[in-house]
This record gives sequence, C-alpha cells and structure tokens, in this order.
Amino acid sequence: MKRALITGVTGQDGAYLSQFLLHKGYEVYGLLRRSAASDVIGAKLRWLGIQNDVRLVDGNLTDLSSLIRILREVKPDEIYNLAAQSFVKSSWNQPLLTGTVTGIGAANVLEAVRLDAPQARFYQASSSEMYGLVREPVQSETTPFYPRSPYAVAKLYAHWMTVNYRESFGLHATSGILFNHESPLRGIEFVTRKVTDGAARIKLGLQRELGLGNIDARRDWGHARDYVEAMWLMLQQDKPDDYVIATGRTTTVRDMCRIAFEHVGLKADDHIVIKPEFFRPAEVDILQGNPAKAKAMLGWQARTTLEEMIHEMVDADLARVRREMN
Ligand code: GDP
Repeated sequence: MKRALITGVTGQDGAYLSQFLLHKGYEVYGLLRRSAASDVIGAKLRWLGIQNDVRLVDGNLTDLSSLIRILREVKPDEIYNLAAQSFVKSSWNQPLLTGTVTGIGAANVLEAVRLDAPQARFYQASSSEMYGLVREPVQSETTPFYPRSPYAVAKLYAHWMTVNYRESFGLHATSGILFNHESPLRGIEFVTRKVTDGAARIKLGLQRELGLGNIDARRDWGHARDYVEAMWLMLQQDKPDDYVIATGRTTTVRDMCRIAFEHVGLKADDHIVIKPEFFRPAEVDILQGNPAKAKAMLGWQARTTLEEMIHEMVDADLARVRREMN
C-alpha cells in the first residue's frame, strides 16, 4: 500500500486529492496546522465524506523540525505540497506571511525531503499566477514568468526551488503549473464561488446585489476534481518535470457570471455592482494555458466544461443556502 502526505489537506485541492488517492488504495496523511478554528477545519473533507479516512498529523510548513519529524514517522512515498496562503488579494495585505508560507514553506518541505525522504516523490503546487503580465498570448511550460502579486512572487520562488532541488540533488521533484481550478469546495473569497454563492442567495431572496471588481479579467477555469488527477499522474512518471494543467479556454469574469445567473433564471447585469474595494493594486488581465504537454506525456485532459462546473457550484450553493435558511 502506497502512502501519501498532503500539505494543505483541508483546502479544496487537498480534499479532492485525498479522495482520489483513497480510491486508489493509498494511505493518506494530511499535515494539519494547529488553529483555534478546528470546527471548520475539516469541512471540505467532511463534504466529501472522507474525514475519518485521512490521518491528520500535527505540524506546520514554517516549522522545519515538524516536517522532518513527520517524514520520519509517516515515511511517505509521495508528498504533495498544496499548502499556501493562496488568496492573491490578501497577499498585498500580508506579503511577508505569504512569502513565509507560500515560498519558504515549500523550501522547508524540500529540505525535509532532501534530508529524510530523498527517495520520495515530491509535487509542488505551482500557479498560473506566475505568468502574471503575460509574455505570450497562450502560456506553456516555456513561457517566461512575470509575477504580479506577492503571492505570485512567492509561488515563483517555490517553483524554482523545486526545479533547483531536482537539478542539484536528483530529487523526484515536480512542479505542476495549474491554471485556476474551482469546485463547490472553492473558498468563498475566490470569484467563481463568490458568484455562485451570490447567485444562489439572490435567487432565494436573501440579497439583491453582488459587489465585484474587475469583471473584464479573463481566466482559464477548470474543475479541481480533474486537476488533482493530473497531480498524481505527474508523480507516476519515471522522470520529474514541469507541466501546465489548463483547459485551453479563457473566459471573462463577466461571462462566468452570466453562466451562473442564467442557471437560476436571472440576469447577471441586473444584480452585479462594480465596487472599487474588489480591484487589486496590480491585475492579471488574462490567463490561457496550453495543456498540450500534459496531454502528450500524461494522457491528461480537462473533462469538465466551465458551464458544467458553474452549474454544479450554483446547485451546491443553492442546497447549502437552503439548509442554512431552515
Ligand atoms: P486568482 O486568479 O487566483 O486571483 O483568482 P480569483 O478568483 O481571486 O480572481 C480571478 C479574477 O477575478 C481576478 O482577475 C480578479 O481581479 C477578478 N475579480 C473581479 N471581481 C472579483 C471579486 O469580487 N473577488 C475576486 N476574488 N476576484 C474578482
């Protein structure tokens, strides 16, 4: 039986990846950061019905000794580093924390792997935000990076540390450059979930308006459930490498809103209000990924369309809001 250790196990991707690996017969361990809000911590794992199947271990990305202890105890075959301060807008408010967790945190995991689990396979959750002010209209593994937020700068450091540890120490260290990926488990602060939750609340008469920022921004949105399979496929390859994971289609926030509101028989234009507080100091205007390498090397491609995913999210939010109302 293979053993996996996941950091960020309580987040969207951690939950879906745990579910995927459990189905494959893995023993799944999740790094759990101590927090007073322990009642909400397992919410995503609970939603998938796997809260009792994931073995949570106490540690922190910023505490190298805790990582070393956990690697010695768990002896994982595969390590997925998904933990991060991952909300771009917050990264301007907490730039140093973002650098410490999202950047140095990844280096800590790599150090622990080098010292105590050099045979294990390592996955780093890199991000399309690293392309930022895009240097090419469609971004691939060879497109130069131009990060546009403290978050993206931190992710870039973690990405290059992953490449460097692969080249310096021969670690099986892989970086997956994932474009935006969403689901009913997406955090409420991200725009897709904010919109699907808003559409549900407006439909059920709880609010009339939804405040948003730059709705001309374009993103290449896929489904997290599809994307965690790509993470696993990357670690099954003989050689570590870097892969772009994307759908290849780009859509404006405006059109994504239209899809969500139409699903509940409403017009987005009647409810969306543009508010300055949701704009960012520097914006990533457009992202569109080229997943050709992932298709050729991993046999992976996105399965869920944006429409299917947004409908699933709106339906889940309708059910959730109805439950809250009762
Ligand atoms: P990101 O790509 O990781 O920053 O994912 P987000 O879902 O947070 O944002 C995607 C895009 O939606 C960005 O270009 C945001 O500027 C834009 N956007 C417009 N209005 C909002 C909003 O109210 N909240 C968020 N989170 N993003 C918004």
